[in-house]
Amino acid sequence: MTILRTDVVTRVSRATRVAMATDLRRLVTTGDVLDATTDIEVYGYDASFLTQLKPVVPDLAVIARSEADVIAVMRYAHEHRIPVTPRGAASGCGAGCVALRGGIVLALNAMNRVIEIDGPNGQAICEPGVVHARLNELVAQSGLIFPPDPGSSRMATVGGMASTNAHGVRAVKYGPTSSWVLGLTVVLPNGDVIETGSVGSRAKQSASGLELTKLFVGAEGTLGVITRLRLKLLPRPKARAMVFAVFDVLERAGEAVQAVYRSGISPSAIEILDSRSLRAANLYRPDLGLREAEALLLFEVDGNPAGVRWDAEQIAETVRPLAVEVDWSDQEPRIAKLWEARSVVGAAVGALRPGSTRAYAGEDICVPLSRIPETLRGIQELSVKYDVPVATYGHIGGGSLHPAILVNGRDPDDVRRVIALTDAIHHLALDLGGTVTGEHGVGAARAPYMTREHGAALETMRQIKRALDPHGIMNPATIFPEDVPPTPALDASLVTGGT
Ligand SMILES: Cc1cc2nc3c(=O)[nH]c(=O)nc-3n(C[C@H](O)[C@H](O)[C@H](O)COP(=O)(O)OP(=O)(O)OC[C@H]3O[C@@H](n4cnc5c(N)ncnc54)[C@H](O)[C@@H]3O)c2cc1C
Repeated sequence: MTILRTDVVTRVSRATRVAMATDLRRLVTTGDVLDATTDIEVYGYDASFLTQLKPVVPDLAVIARSEADVIAVMRYAHEHRIPVTPRGAASGCGAGCVALRGGIVLALNAMNRVIEIDGPNGQAICEPGVVHARLNELVAQSGLIFPPDPGSSRMATVGGMASTNAHGVRAVKYGPTSSWVLGLTVVLPNGDVIETGSVGSRAKQSASGLELTKLFVGAEGTLGVITRLRLKLLPRPKARAMVFAVFDVLERAGEAVQAVYRSGISPSAIEILDSRSLRAANLYRPDLGLREAEALLLFEVDGNPAGVRWDAEQIAETVRPLAVEVDWSDQEPRIAKLWEARSVVGAAVGALRPGSTRAYAGEDICVPLSRIPETLRGIQELSVKYDVPVATYGHIGGGSLHPAILVNGRDPDDVRRVIALTDAIHHLALDLGGTVTGEHGVGAARAPYMTREHGAALETMRQIKRALDPHGIMNPATIFPEDVPPTPALDASLVTGGT
């Protein structure tokens, strides 16, 4: 079949789709090639509001089961200039794994073998489709931990986490996924395969050559397909404790975080729930019995048993003058219950306005620590201005905030106001010296803000992209604003964040 073009193929006819599927079925030896509408419909979504508004079904989906399948798909796509969008678990929130410009969705979730847990060298070798929680369950048997810990642990794949440089609740102490990736095997857009981080290496550190591992981590599938990861592990901490503190003035919660840092303690997590998040958690799970106030902070510390008790007591004493209630515990059932309060919020916010659902839009800003109270107040003001309920929670220790916006998707006016509010939240974050995405990645949803956020550096990113992917076939509707097709949620007449 010949469909060679000077630009990427954006949409194909039914006949071309059948021809592509026939070709690929010959080339893909261990995986599956799907072209029936009912089979490929599910690939039109991720968790984003953008794809909730307008799912985009690919021309084909290939479920890869081996690196050879990935190579075959990339060689074919390179030859015929067909867009390829890698996909893990589709828990991403920016429409990054959806084929907005048509072509092939390349599903990696069936490449899910943990190849080796190398305990003595503190690392694990695995395929990209391994789900984060499963990896941690396995390495726990050797007394080890893979520290990045997203809220989507039971969904997200390690390939997706590396590609978005996922952070999570413990990034405040342990850093993002990029700190835990020692090396990658990557299939490049032309089908060539490289290994980053030194071929065959088991070294835990390296200063050798350009840092290619870090280039592919966070590239959101725009530079190649990750087919194998060498991940760094840590000994599992022996104990943890949790301090919770309730504040009737939002600004004091911000001051409390600063005070804890000044006291010389590095918590393994610092999370915030604002008043609406607390209300939502109580509506959804009354048994949690959370005291409702302007904010609740959760500080987790980990390490050895005596150390965590000392840290927890110190934190409690430090924040006591600022809070209306403070307590701490090193008892696992109590800690688990407090973490549950935090983890139900994302889903619970729907209870704040029956008939509405959570829109993953504007959900991932990150601001300087000193400007968190200002940001939280700003979000509350925008919520009133646009008449859209917003509950905010997040990893306050790193400045990462998740405004949870509620939308009635059946009401066009509501949708319009949510889109305008999302845009305003993104600009608020940039105005305050932050970023539009602290951990979820850009995808298509946040591409319109890349010019404002990166200035001339965006052109350097384009040059890297062109060098590795001269035909622009690799996840073409992600990160770079000019490549994202118009969609309702990015409609320039509705938002002001366009390029
Ligand atoms: C309830 C909920 C809670 C969340 N909590 C967090 C959190 O605490 N922290 C956080 O960082 N994120 C969080 N997320 C966002 C999301 O789970 C992460 O971005 C996750 O890393 C995505 O993994 P995935 O396997 O679902 O990837 P997908 O959504 O399938 O893909 C994400 C991006 O990675 C690319 N990609 C996927 N696999 C590969 C591969 N093998 N090679 C090349 N590119 C690839 C895709 O093309 C896409 O651009 C949350 C999401 C939800 C829905």
